[in-house]
Amino acid sequence: MPEVVIVGGGISGAAAAYEIARAGHSVTLFEARELAAMASGWTLGGVRQSGRDPAELPLARAAVERWSGLDEELGAATGYRRKGNLRLARTEAEAEIIRNLVSDQRALGLEIEYLAGQEAIHAVAPAIGPSILAASFCPGDGHADPVPSTRAFAAAAVRHGAVIREGTPVRALLRQGERVTGIETASGERIEADRVVLATGIHAPELLAPLGLSLPLAVKRVCVLQTVPLPPVFEQVFGVANADAAGRQEVDGRLRVTTGIGDWPHEPAGWNADSLAPRTVDIATLIGRVSPILPAIAEAGLARVWGGLIDLTPDALPAIDARTGIEGLVLAAGFSGHGFGIGPVTGEIVADLALGRQPRFDLSPFELGRFAGRSAPAAPLSLHG
Ligand SMILES: Cc1cc2nc3c(=O)[nH]c(=O)nc-3n(C[C@H](O)[C@H](O)[C@H](O)COP(=O)(O)OP(=O)(O)OC[C@H]3O[C@@H](n4cnc5c(N)ncnc54)[C@H](O)[C@@H]3O)c2cc1C
Repeated sequence: MPEVVIVGGGISGAAAAYEIARAGHSVTLFEARELAAMASGWTLGGVRQSGRDPAELPLARAAVERWSGLDEELGAATGYRRKGNLRLARTEAEAEIIRNLVSDQRALGLEIEYLAGQEAIHAVAPAIGPSILAASFCPGDGHADPVPSTRAFAAAAVRHGAVIREGTPVRALLRQGERVTGIETASGERIEADRVVLATGIHAPELLAPLGLSLPLAVKRVCVLQTVPLPPVFEQVFGVANADAAGRQEVDGRLRVTTGIGDWPHEPAGWNADSLAPRTVDIATLIGRVSPILPAIAEAGLARVWGGLIDLTPDALPAIDARTGIEGLVLAAGFSGHGFGIGPVTGEIVADLALGRQPRFDLSPFELGRFAGRSAPAAPLSLHG
C-alpha cells in the first residue's frame, strides 16, 4: 500500500510525486490519460513572477530559483530560459496600466522596469513591432517547455521509486467517516493510502463533491497557435496590458501564442478535442493581434492550433490545502491560468502537506474554506504568460 496516492499527472501532481519519492516515501500517481495531457501540456509555459498576486509572489520567486537548477536536478532538459517577460502597451491607456503595474510590483520588491518608447523596447527585444508604445520588463521571468518539464519530474520520481500509472482514471476517493482512505479507479480497482493528493485541474470539483466539498471553478477556453520553427527572433515571453494575447518562441524556434480567456459552454466532464477546437475566427483574431507585436508571425508556417481549458477560481488563486475538513486529503487545483510556472514549488508544498511537514510558505490565502458560499466568477480574468 503506497503512503501517498496522487490523482492527476500534470506538473502539480508530477512535481509532488518527485518530492515525495525523493524524500523516501512510497507514492503512486494515477493519470487518466497521459502525463501533461491537459493544462500542463496546453499551456504557454511562462515562468513568471511579474503580475502575480502578492499572495502568490513568494511561491513564484521560489519557483524561479528552482527552475534554474532543474535540468541538472532532474537530469533532463526542461527548456527553461530566464530571459524576461515583457508586458506591452499598444495605446496610451495601456501604457498607463503598465506604468501602474511597474510601480505596484516594485513596491513589492520585484525587479521590473518601465520601457518607454521603441528605442528602449528594441534594446531588449528587437523583434517587437513599431506600434508598441511601452512595456514593463521583468528580467527574472522566463519560460520552459511544458511537456518535457512535466515528464522530467515524473521520470525523476520514478527513479526515486514512485509508480506512475497513465491511462488510469480515478472515479472516486474512498472515505471512512471524515477521512479519505484511498481511491477507486474507473475499472473498479481500489488502492488504499494514508494520504490522497487531488491535482486534477478542472476535474477537481467532480471528485470533491461526493466528499461534501466544493471548489467553485469557472472553466474557460484559451486558443493556442504554434508555428513551424523559425530562426531565433524573440527570447522573452510577451503579454499585453489587457491580457488578450501572450506568446514566446520555444527552444526549437516555434512561436507559441495564446488568446486571452474566452467562454466555453460545456461541462468539464465532457471535454474532447472537438469541443476545444478553436474557431477559425479565433485563430484569425489571434494572428491579427499578434502580428503588430511580433511581425515575424505573419509569414510563419502554421504548425498546430489547439484549445486549452483554464480552472478559474473566484479570486484567481489556487486551492492548496490539507485542512479541508476531510483528513488525509491534500488539494492542489484552481491554478487559474498561472500554475505552470509555480509547479515545482506546488510540488514541494503538496509533499510537505502530504508528509506532515511544515511548508515554508504562508498557505492561508490558498485555503479551500475561503470560497464557502461563493460561486465561480462570471467575468473573465487575465492570462499573461
Ligand atoms: C493555454 C494555456 C496557457 C497557459 N499559460 C500559462 C503560463 O504561461 N504560465 C503559467 O504559469 N501557467 C499557464 N497556464 C496554466 C497552467 O498550464 C496550469 O495552471 C497548470 O498546468 C496546472 O497544472 P496541474 O497539474 O495543476 O493541472 P493539469 O495540468 O490540468 O493536470 C491535471 C491532470 O489530472 C488528470 N486527471 C483529471 N481527472 C482525473 C481523474 N479522475 N483521474 C486521473 N487523472 C485525472 C488530467 O488528465 C490531467 O493530466 C496556461 C494554461 C493554458 C490552458
